[in-house]
This record gives sequence, C-alpha cells and structure tokens, in this order.
Amino acid sequence: MPVMLITGANRGIGLAVAKVALARGWTVLGSMRREEDADRLAAELGPLFRPQLFDVADRDALAASAASSPQAIDVLLNNAGIIGPDGQDQSALHMDFDGFLRTLEINTLAPLAVAQAFLPRLRKAAQPRILTISSQMSWMGYAKSDRVAYRASKAAVNKVMQCLATDLEPENIAVGLIDPGWVRTDMGGGEADLTAEEVASGIVGLIENFDITRTGRFFRWTGEEREF
Ligand code: NDP
Repeated sequence: MPVMLITGANRGIGLAVAKVALARGWTVLGSMRREEDADRLAAELGPLFRPQLFDVADRDALAASAASSPQAIDVLLNNAGIIGPDGQDQSALHMDFDGFLRTLEINTLAPLAVAQAFLPRLRKAAQPRILTISSQMSWMGYAKSDRVAYRASKAAVNKVMQCLATDLEPENIAVGLIDPGWVRTDMGGGEADLTAEEVASGIVGLIENFDITRTGRFFRWTGEEREF
C-alpha cells in the first residue's frame, strides 16, 4: 500500500487530503503538533492513519520522526503553513520583521527541512514524489501588495522546490508545487469559493498522476500546469 506523509494533517486542507487519500487506499502519515489531536484523529480515521508528532520548524523533532521507522514513503506533501503577521503588519511599508522571519521559517525553510529529513525514506520508494502547497499569492505576474511576508514566503518556496527538483531529478525523485485555489479553512476564511473536500480530491488525483516527466513544475489543484 502506498504511503503519503502530509504535514499539518490535523485540520484544513491537510486533514481533507488525508481523508481522501485514506479512502483511495493510501496509508497516511499525518503530522501534527498536539498529542490530543493525534489521539482524536487516530481514533476517527483508523489504523491506516498514523499520526507523527512534530513541529515543522523543529529540526531535531523532524530527524527523530524520520528515524522512528524504516518504512518507505512514496509521497511527501508539504502542506503546513501560516499566513504570517496581521495584514497591517506585513505591508511593504510597514513590516513586522520578526513575523516575516517566522513566516519564512514555516512556509519556505520547513518544507525543505522536512524533505531533507525524510529523503532516506523517500529514496526507498519505487516512484518517490515531493509536493509542496504553494499559493496563487506567489505569482510574479501580479503586482498586488498585501500580505507581503506570505507572498514572499510562497514565491521563495517555489524557487527552493524548483532547485530541489533539479537536484533530485538524477535520482528519479519528482518534485512539484500546488496552487490549491482559495479554500474555506481557518486560513482561507468563510468567503473562499472552494471547500477543502473538493480541493483535496483534486490534489490526490494530481499526486497520483504526477511523475518525473513533469518535475519542477507548478500545478493548480485541478491538475493543469500554471505559470510561476
Ligand atoms: P489552516 O490554517 O487551516 O491549517 C494550517 C495547518 O498547518 C495546520 O494543520 C497547522 O497546525 C499547520 N501548521 C502551522 N504551523 C505549523 C508548524 N510550525 N508545525 C507544524 N504544523 C504547522 O490552513 P490551510 O489548510 O488553509 O492551508 C494549508 C496550506 O495551503 C498552507 O500551506 C497554506 O499556505 C496553503 N494555502 C491555503 C489557501 C487557502 O485558501 N486556504 C490558499 C493558498 C494556499 P496547527 O493546528 O498545529 O496550527
């Protein structure tokens, strides 16, 4: 049975993807930060859902989690993310720089750190894939200025993952990026036009069809390629 590691699997898009993946026969390693979430979700989602307790910014915890089992991992989905400081504190003219750094830590550095930590287990899979949830707000073709820390962190993770794709291509490990659309979650808010459930089934379909021939590219949740 294929194995998918999803970061931030306790709520929002990550939890919705976990549920769809389980229904389609994946074993899901779902990362979260709180033991009470792990107990609740293990009971709710059954034995093929295996909670992994770590904060994506904690490198020691990542290393310990990765070393806790020799099991191969077919897919890493970097989903955990934060929106960053309050809107008025992350404009180009007024920036909470500590908040900006934290946003980069979670949205840009952590996906690479998680990939590096779990690479030995990804290498054991027949068709390893690393997918990272980015955002439409990373798009360089649009000059709107709000949520500058968030936009910059997602634009930067696009470049980091494009570089990782180049470095891992000789090993046949595919690396891609996903724009999930605007989704009704704690982050997306109640006005968003998409439900986590519909986006999750698109994302799982995309993951199942993604391979090394399309490494380094950026996709909408519907599966079509989009520009960076
Ligand atoms: P939510 O705010 O609903 O969920 C965020 C998830 O990330 C939670 O599981 C949260 O865990 C986890 N997380 C945050 N910080 C950390 C951390 N330090 N360590 C481990 N886990 C952490 O967001 P969404 O589900 O909406 O977003 C998921 C991804 O999709 C994000 O990368 C986001 O940027 C991206 N995205 C979302 C859009 C939307 O419209 N919703 C649009 C475009 C992109 P905890 O409960 O512990 O905080």
